[in-house]
Amino acid sequence: MKPVLWLIFLVLLAEITVAAEPPSHQEVRQVMGTLATVQVWAADDSTARVAADSAFSIFTAVDSLMSTWNGHSAVSRLNAAPAGTWVTVGPEVCAVLRASLEAARRTGGAFDPTVLPLVKLWGFRGGQPAVPDTAALSRVLKRVNFEAVEVGRERARLNLDDQAVDLGGIAKGHALDRAAAAMIRAGASGGVLDLGGNLVVFGEGPGHEVGVVDPDDPQSLLLVVPMTSGSVATSGQYERFVSVEGQAYGHILDPRTGWPVASGISATVLAPEALWADALATAVVVMGAENGLKLLEAMPGTEGVIAGPDGVRMTSGLRAALGLD
Ligand code: AMP
Ligand code: MG
Repeated sequence: MKPVLWLIFLVLLAEITVAAEPPSHQEVRQVMGTLATVQVWAADDSTARVAADSAFSIFTAVDSLMSTWNGHSAVSRLNAAPAGTWVTVGPEVCAVLRASLEAARRTGGAFDPTVLPLVKLWGFRGGQPAVPDTAALSRVLKRVNFEAVEVGRERARLNLDDQAVDLGGIAKGHALDRAAAAMIRAGASGGVLDLGGNLVVFGEGPGHEVGVVDPDDPQSLLLVVPMTSGSVATSGQYERFVSVEGQAYGHILDPRTGWPVASGISATVLAPEALWADALATAVVVMGAENGLKLLEAMPGTEGVIAGPDGVRMTSGLRAALGLD
């Protein structure tokens, strides 16, 4: 397939949510560098609005702790400290850092929270995007090593010179888990929250279905997954990219080679926790269809759909749930 057609294919692989009843309240705001849509089901309008506000407050709070665009966030303070210095970042950042290290271990380093120097080198944080020379690439790759990150209860430290973490592949999922919990505390009976390719569904109200568009026939869905609760995340290189001399380079980098992943796959992962759906969707793009599918099969309660140049593949549990076997 020609690259242009392939790009169209990937863009079509998105989640579509269909609700049985309309939400009590729905609101869209720009937050965490993306659009957040919050749908709430509640006994009355004012409860629904308060619950939606609580979700947006969480998104803003997580952004101010974990954004690497904001030089004052806790993660930016950690990144700015000299190698080996403990930095107090608070229990929430520590918990997400710990989860990111676990994701790194489980994926053999395909997911690595220490990719930030690479992200910057390729021009994803401003400046002129360019293909780096080999010397610069190997210098920067030495700092990409999750094993040099230590995390305590309230503080963390990075043990290599100029090492820096980027929680961009996991923080949105974490924010969704927290936001759903906050909405329940605020009295919501159900909700659907969508944060830049990450979705969480909870509670009594919604009764949702998540559809994956058929790339060969954009008018129809390839598959529809009933989702009463849980989360789904989609990752792919088409979401964000830089152009260098007419060539598009996507924002998901392979920590082993230092290059943006070029396989052209898109991964949709369903998991009980949004944090894990988020981290695994990013990781599967790096791992490729074969190894990515093996990983998802090995993780209890986790399912996935991977679309790529070799076709569409899904985990056996999902195939069985959809009656495809
Ligand atoms: P997502 O949109 O969840 O797939 O995450 C992509 C973002 O995670 C990128 O924009 C980077 O900030 C960061 N990232 C890129 N490559 C990796 C990687 N191999 N492991 C962890 N995070 C990554
Ligand atoms: Mg992710």
